[in-house]
Amino acid sequence: MSLDAKIPAGPLAEKWSKHKFNLKLVNPANKRKYDVIVVGTGLAGASAAASLAELGYNVKAFCFQDSPRRAHSIAAQGGINAAKNYRNDGDSVYRLFYDTIKGGDYRAREGNVYRLAEVSVNIIDQCVAQGVPFAREYGGLLDNRSFGGAQVSRTFYARGQTGQQLLLGAYSALNRQINAGKVKMYTRTEMLDVVIVDGKAQGIVTRNLKDGKIETHSGHAVLLCTGGYGNVFYLSTNAMGCNVTAAWRAHKRGAFFGNPCYTQIHPTCIPVTGDHQSKLTLMSESLRNDGRVWAPKTVELAQKLRKGELKVTDLKEEDRDYFLERKYPSFGNLVPRDVASRNAKEIVDEGRGVGGSGVAVYLDFAESISRLGEDAVRAKYGNLFDMYYQITDENPYEVPMRIYPAVHYTMGGLWVDYNLMTTVQGLYALGEANFSDHGANRLGASALMQGLADGYFVIPYTIGDYLATIGPKPVDTKHPAFEQTKKEVEERINKLLSLKGNKTVDEYHRELGLIMWEYCGMARSEEGLKKAKGLIHNLRADFWKNAIVLGENEEFNSSLEKAGRVADFLELGELMVDDALMRHESCGGHFRLESQTEEGEAKRDDENFAFVAAWEYKADNQPEVLHKEELVFENVHLTQRSYK
Ligand SMILES: Cc1cc2nc3c(=O)[nH]c(=O)nc-3n(C[C@H](O)[C@H](O)[C@H](O)COP(=O)(O)OP(=O)(O)OC[C@H]3O[C@@H](n4cnc5c(N)ncnc54)[C@H](O)[C@@H]3O)c2cc1C
Repeated sequence: MSLDAKIPAGPLAEKWSKHKFNLKLVNPANKRKYDVIVVGTGLAGASAAASLAELGYNVKAFCFQDSPRRAHSIAAQGGINAAKNYRNDGDSVYRLFYDTIKGGDYRAREGNVYRLAEVSVNIIDQCVAQGVPFAREYGGLLDNRSFGGAQVSRTFYARGQTGQQLLLGAYSALNRQINAGKVKMYTRTEMLDVVIVDGKAQGIVTRNLKDGKIETHSGHAVLLCTGGYGNVFYLSTNAMGCNVTAAWRAHKRGAFFGNPCYTQIHPTCIPVTGDHQSKLTLMSESLRNDGRVWAPKTVELAQKLRKGELKVTDLKEEDRDYFLERKYPSFGNLVPRDVASRNAKEIVDEGRGVGGSGVAVYLDFAESISRLGEDAVRAKYGNLFDMYYQITDENPYEVPMRIYPAVHYTMGGLWVDYNLMTTVQGLYALGEANFSDHGANRLGASALMQGLADGYFVIPYTIGDYLATIGPKPVDTKHPAFEQTKKEVEERINKLLSLKGNKTVDEYHRELGLIMWEYCGMARSEEGLKKAKGLIHNLRADFWKNAIVLGENEEFNSSLEKAGRVADFLELGELMVDDALMRHESCGGHFRLESQTEEGEAKRDDENFAFVAAWEYKADNQPEVLHKEELVFENVHLTQRSYK
């Protein structure tokens, strides 16, 4: 099968407008004849479901939480980018486009990224109209701050709770449509498979998480807005429930998986403290606007700090190494995440790490507190400081925070074309669930932008083209594919419930996470990846022999839920390793030790790897087939990324 990304021809700035004009329309009276399934009601799904219902389609929306308000999107802290240029500091749609392409280390599509930058300005207006309380300056105008990889201030925010406020906005829009009868909301319902009829996605199979009831639902199209898969690493900043199941099951039904190995490791997280942890906490990138990252200049000083022989506040200024400011004077503490993370790792590898474990560096606010005053700092970041204090029992107004990189976001996901359609007709992927716009490294505050762009401004146009083509004929739920898929889901559940070994699913998950972090995390090598491949393969085989899954299907059963998700993570882990092994270059967050510049930065190989890797599933235990979508750059010149 050849991949057609369907990127419109013509000048970059006109592609989206022309494309919208060329897309087929569904007339208003016909829209009510179509049913659309939206799986996931985080920012991408809630915005899509609300917008499609507002247009007149009948929407069935699903989430596994007890309310759309609990989607992982609610955790987003720092902000959302938009090229509004309110600061008059040189921003523009083109600059946001350029920063994003460069930030992603030239591994994203120009056409998609330009569209994202273009619609970013509408997102802010949409959210303000919904009442999202973005931070404002004294005069009442919307305030902005800076995020990594940019030299302008274009990040809109609501204190450290931007995701929560945006989600409340999208949730209100969704609720309006639920109330109007245009959206039927299924909470506590997990999608376990896609139903494909004659090559088209026409339904899903779900399990009611309260009573185990397995059901089929039909629709003219299916949208997966099911988030990212960072929890394959076990420890991550993601919500505990985040998983890959919906995307993975769709993958096994024919949707190609794009760039699975591209993972974002965020530099500013609260360091791991021991085996007892099942979750890590992010300290938002926004903190790098005012916090300065540093480590002691020598190993000896670091040892003294670790042993408690020296207090951090007593360390002299000349003994501190503000390593990001030193190495990257132009961007300083606001270098992109991949760069900041690798530098923190280097410091720790040199033995200059701090904290009890020695696996941390400092994020220090002393200078900004003395410059701006404690109240001003509290007003901007108060909730983040409180969170840090509650978790570490250290007061960040008095001593520097300790931070270390942790898994945060997955740039990989289901491959989609310009219309957000996967390789399965009628099956779409939006938000973090798709691979689309961030290349090999996402810039901070761009995930919320992309999720809302997909949901509010892209899918409402592109889905019409497909629906108009297939026509409003009702979906035939008597088609044997519905019954067959349901049967396969039930068989899998029974297989999981038959596991009566002696190792918990959590133990497998933790082991998988350690392998992924060690060999497919911040640094990757051929030798390590090959080792990981064998380890995961054996772990997966062991899971199906020795795992224990408690309880029954016909009840609330978190053991069964987890088992299904971890089984999928085990398969995904192998594909991530295959992808990382195949990509014999470094780019963005994918850092192959064999491919670095003399200064230790990621060294791309544009001649051989300027492509999107799209993997096709064939059958269980068979190697997946690699398809390459060549990336064409007509507007930006590919260079070694520099933030110096
Ligand atoms: C701590 C933290 C802070 C962040 N801060 C920022 C920030 O400041 N700015 C920024 O741009 N980005 C930020 N991000 C990233 C951003 O929050 C996410 O990328 C984004 O919210 C993902 O939105 P989504 O709608 O794609 O998915 P999610 O919000 O994860 O929603 C997924 C939805 O899918 C549903 N679902 C999943 N699987 C199934 C299934 N099988 N069946 C039924 N339903 C299913 C869930 O119930 C949920 O409703 C942050 C991430 C983290 C972890």
